[in-house]
Formats: sequence, structure tokens, C-alpha cells
Amino acid sequence: MVRPRELPDSARVVIIGGGVGGTSIAYHLAKLGERDVVLLDRNELTSGSTFHSAGLVGQLRSSVSLTRMMMNSVELYRTLDCGWVQCGGIRLACTPEREQEVLRQVAWAKTFDSLRLEKGYRVWAADITPDETPYEAGLGFCVRKQGGFIGAPALGLGEGEKGSVGRPSKRLRCLALDDPRSVALGNEPVRIGNQVLGRVTSGGYGYTVKRSIAYAYVPAEVELGTSVEVDIFGRWVPGLVTREPLFDPKGERVRV
Ligand SMILES: Cc1cc2nc3c(=O)[nH]c(=O)nc-3n(C[C@H](O)[C@H](O)[C@H](O)COP(=O)(O)OP(=O)(O)OC[C@H]3O[C@@H](n4cnc5c(N)ncnc54)[C@H](O)[C@@H]3O)c2cc1C
Repeated sequence: MVRPRELPDSARVVIIGGGVGGTSIAYHLAKLGERDVVLLDRNELTSGSTFHSAGLVGQLRSSVSLTRMMMNSVELYRTLDCGWVQCGGIRLACTPEREQEVLRQVAWAKTFDSLRLEKGYRVWAADITPDETPYEAGLGFCVRKQGGFIGAPALGLGEGEKGSVGRPSKRLRCLALDDPRSVALGNEPVRIGNQVLGRVTSGGYGYTVKRSIAYAYVPAEVELGTSVEVDIFGRWVPGLVTREPLFDPKGERVRV
């Protein structure tokens, strides 16, 4: 049903179509401070395909930018009072063709993990947990040195503290394994010399660098270039503690 409204003669921004796309553009423009925005719809707001789909916000999409958009959407919905319920889901394949499609999606998801391993991006709940400090995780550069935030005293950054946490007892290290076909999945023991001194937090194959990559917490004194072994399915696979990230170490690609 069309509801005629008093429309302004002009506006700095006119958005045509009030589905999730148009309303989202209006929301973000308003957040950026744009006040002169008109949203037009030939029908009711969200009466297009958005009307049918107040359901799933699946995260994995056909491109990196779409996937990122969906992830940002979830972050936003968490902050809105909109009855958002976050849960997981299961995809069932009832035909061989559908099974192949689902397997392709799994491969696509693994590619994302591969890319972040090559860039050294940490995964929350695997590479970093409440049990590790940012210094141990190699994220000390993200910490405000003068403190003044929740958790600063726990990091030794309170008033009068000298920041003793600058020298952690363990460090998250990138391990490049000699055999590219042996891939760690997580939780595998890491041996240095004859002693198990760490465990893999996450691992996978880096398709760009063509290496099997594993991240693991090892004692802080373990230097770059140290030989390690990772127990993958009962076989100790040798590798080296390697400078990270393995791909684009100067970050030139992400600044293009
Ligand atoms: C049955 C169904 C289920 C779906 N389930 C999901 C799901 O679970 N999860 C998911 O992520 N996606 C789902 N989708 C896809 C999702 O609904 C769409 O991708 C999304 O809603 C598109 O939003 P939009 O704002 O681009 O378009 P729309 O929601 O279609 O909005 C377009 C708007 O533009 C208006 N309009 C069109 N032409 C004009 C004009 N000339 N002048 C003025 N106004 C105009 C229309 O009235 C409409 O309100 C589903 C789609 C369908 C059909």
C-alpha cells in the first residue's frame, strides 16, 4: 500500500528502496552525522525480499567482502535492541549435488583460515583466550602503554607500575613445518629437544606460501630459527620457529 507523504523538495541524499539495504544505508549515514536523508519506497518499508528473510544471517558468503559485511552485520545486530538471537546452524545435504556444494563451502571456509594463518591474524578462543596476555599473544603493540582501561592493573600497567608484563614467560610463535602435507588442526603437542614445551593453538595449510603453518605457545626464550617437532597423527613432524607473518610481512598488500 502506497502512503503519500509530505516530501521535501530536495535532499542531499535520496535513497530509493527501503529494504535491508536502503535502511542500512540510511542508518549508517545518520551515524556518520548526515541529517538530510530521504528514504523512498514505492510500498511499505521492508516489503521487498527483506520481508521474507528476517531469519538467517549466514556468515560465509561467496566473496571476502560479502562475508565481511555479514560479520559486521552480526556485530551491529548485537548492539541493537532488535530481538537478535545468535545461534549456530547445521547444513544438511540431501542430494549428491547439494553435498558437493556444501563441500565447496567447507573448502572456501578453509581458504579464509589459510589466509589469516599466512597473515598471522589471531583467532579468539584458539590463539588467544582469557588465559593469555596480549604480550604473550604478540599483541602488545595494541595495548595502551599508560594504562587507564579495565584490566590494565592485571597487565601491570597501573599507576607507578613499570609494566613488568613486557617480558612474558611464553610467546605465541609461528611454526613452519617441513612437510607441507602434514597439517596441524589444533592442540597437537610441540616438542623442542626431547621435551614437550607447548601445544598448537591453530594450524592449517598456507596456499600462497605453500607451507604447513602452526601457531603454538612456547617458552619466551625460544628463539626464531629453533627446531621444533609437532605430533601430527602420531608422527613427529619437524619444523622451525619462523618470523611472522609468512605472507606480506611489511603489510604492503593490506595498505594498497
Ligand atoms: C524467501 C526468501 C528468503 C530469504 N532468506 C534469507 C535469509 O535467511 N538470510 C539472508 O541473508 N537473506 C535471505 N534472503 C535474501 C534477502 O532477503 C535479500 O538479499 C535482501 O532482503 C535484499 O535486500 P534489499 O534491501 O537489497 O532488497 P529488498 O528487500 O527487496 O528491498 C527493495 C525495496 O525497494 C523498493 N523498490 C523497488 N523498486 C522501487 C522503486 N522504483 N521506487 C521505490 N522503491 C522501490 C521495494 O518496495 C523494496 O521495499 C531471502 C530472500 C527471499 C526471497
